[in-house]
Amino acid sequence: MVTSIFKSLSLIIFAVLLPLTAWVTYSVSYQYLVGKELTSVRSQLGLFASDLEAEIEKYSFLPRVLSRNQKFKDLLSKHDASQNMLSNINRDLAYINTVSNTEVVYLMRLDGTTVAASNWDAEDSFVGENFTFRPYFQNAIAGREGRYFALGTTSGRRGYYFSAPVQTNANKPPIGIVVVKVNIDKLEQSWQDYAMTFLVTDTNGVVFSSNNPKWRFRTLHPLSKDALLDIRNNQQYPVDILKQTTLVPSKSYPGLLSIDLSDRLEQFLSAQQAIPTLNWNVYALKPASGLKKAALGYAAFAALLAVLSWGLVYLSSLRRYNLREKLELKQRSERQLKEAHDKLEQRVVQRTHALSESNKILKQEITDRRFAEDELRRTQKELIHAAKLATLGQLASGITHELNQPLAAINNYAENAQKFLSQNNSEQTRSNLFEILKLSERMSDITTQLKTYSYKTDDQIGATDLNKCIHNALAIIKSRIKASKTSVSFELLSDAQVYANDIRLEQVFINLFGNALDAMQDSDHRLIKLKQTAKEGWISTRVIDSGPGIEKSQLPHIFDAFFTTKTVGVGLGLGLSISSEIIQNLGGRLRASNHASGGAQFEILLRSTTET
Ligand code: ADP
Repeated sequence: MVTSIFKSLSLIIFAVLLPLTAWVTYSVSYQYLVGKELTSVRSQLGLFASDLEAEIEKYSFLPRVLSRNQKFKDLLSKHDASQNMLSNINRDLAYINTVSNTEVVYLMRLDGTTVAASNWDAEDSFVGENFTFRPYFQNAIAGREGRYFALGTTSGRRGYYFSAPVQTNANKPPIGIVVVKVNIDKLEQSWQDYAMTFLVTDTNGVVFSSNNPKWRFRTLHPLSKDALLDIRNNQQYPVDILKQTTLVPSKSYPGLLSIDLSDRLEQFLSAQQAIPTLNWNVYALKPASGLKKAALGYAAFAALLAVLSWGLVYLSSLRRYNLREKLELKQRSERQLKEAHDKLEQRVVQRTHALSESNKILKQEITDRRFAEDELRRTQKELIHAAKLATLGQLASGITHELNQPLAAINNYAENAQKFLSQNNSEQTRSNLFEILKLSERMSDITTQLKTYSYKTDDQIGATDLNKCIHNALAIIKSRIKASKTSVSFELLSDAQVYANDIRLEQVFINLFGNALDAMQDSDHRLIKLKQTAKEGWISTRVIDSGPGIEKSQLPHIFDAFFTTKTVGVGLGLGLSISSEIIQNLGGRLRASNHASGGAQFEILLRSTTET
């Protein structure tokens, strides 16, 4: 936003600055160049004017000197001079003319007739010509020295005339005059080297001499009637060749002139100087168009500099703006960051406090939970043990029956042994004692299994022979199986090693076999099938009975604690829930379903210790 305002502002400044710079540079440099050139023009004009004056003035003494010549006096005093005398004087004049480097030197009588001249032998000789109309004649006749510039009526060449009266005596009136005409053309030729135009004007402002031929016989201001009359009377110039040219001075730049050169208006640097001795004005004109070009060049250069400087200033300002914006942005983001950091720190402190509080609570909860878990585990153990004892209780009657038989037999054998001993029949006594021993061993076998089952409380898990557990369990409830006339079929693997605890596993099987026997109580034939398979590291053992199976509605609940369909005192409803718990603790699963044959089917899945 700030940058775009800055950019537009810079562009506006630039749009104003550029033409302003160009214009100021142009006018200042133009003024300077005009001034500088004018100084040069003026100094050259000064040189030119003094040169011109010196060049003309060097002839000024000549008529005066010549007026003293006795021969000339003699000639002018005589009205009928001999031809010889005339030609002598003509030759003298020609000689003087040549030596002095003038155009013509001639002598005139008082009536204005030229009596002798240096150009006596030329076609346009002045001899015999009358020049009374020339002011230089009139001045000299009046006893003064005369000067005049005119276009020669005879020769058609421009010249400056010096005249002096010829007097026999200084107090006497003149007897004639001597005239020296100086050629302007030659003088002009020497001005060609100047790199400017010089104009030489007479009192009427007629340019009678210039190093630029176009300027000759132009008038720099309109001629008055009197002036025109004078020119005509003096036959100074033919009036019809005079052309008026107007010089219009510039208002803004003194020294500059606009000149209408008929086809176009041109500007010139101009200087003017008077030569009082000659009664002339000299002008110097130098075209000013070059100055305009130079000033335009300076202006263009200044504009370029302005563009460059503006560009530099613009770029550096833009950079400064950008840096400032970046700095502000950085400071702002730092501020925001600090605020966020402070807030965060505050929140961290709050959260830490809250966390340490909740940590305390959590620790307490963990402690409570551990305690509860320990309690649970202890309860579980007690429960399992209680269930075991319950199973033992159930088994007790069968075992009692089992023990009764050998006990009665022992009794008989012992009584008979007593009799045989009183008869001194040691042979029979020994035989009876041997039988008693065998029977007591059998009884010991029965009780050993029970003892092992009831006292072993080791919870260690390790590689366990699954089939040994099955057989141990069967042995424990053997009397019940036998009493109920239940047959057991085996489809077991030759070797089934699983991760388990043998006592716990036996407890599960005793429970499953016990349930099966309970369920088959009213069945016509009683069969427990044991089927074992191994798959992908697991060993599945299924206990299938020929009972009525489990009612569909009860299937989801049979593993719930205290769920039983048995009469009070017969079932506690803990067997399957504990069995399932035991198998889960061993890392396996216990599932119940009904077999296709109609009976219940319980499947125990345990992880095998061998790769199967
Ligand atoms: P309890 O034997 O004390 O009833 P269990 O947890 O061992 O407790 O068994 C729960 C119930 O599951 C039994 O009451 C019975 O209804 C059902 N059940 C268990 N085993 C079988 C089986 N083999 N056939 C039919 N029902 C069974």
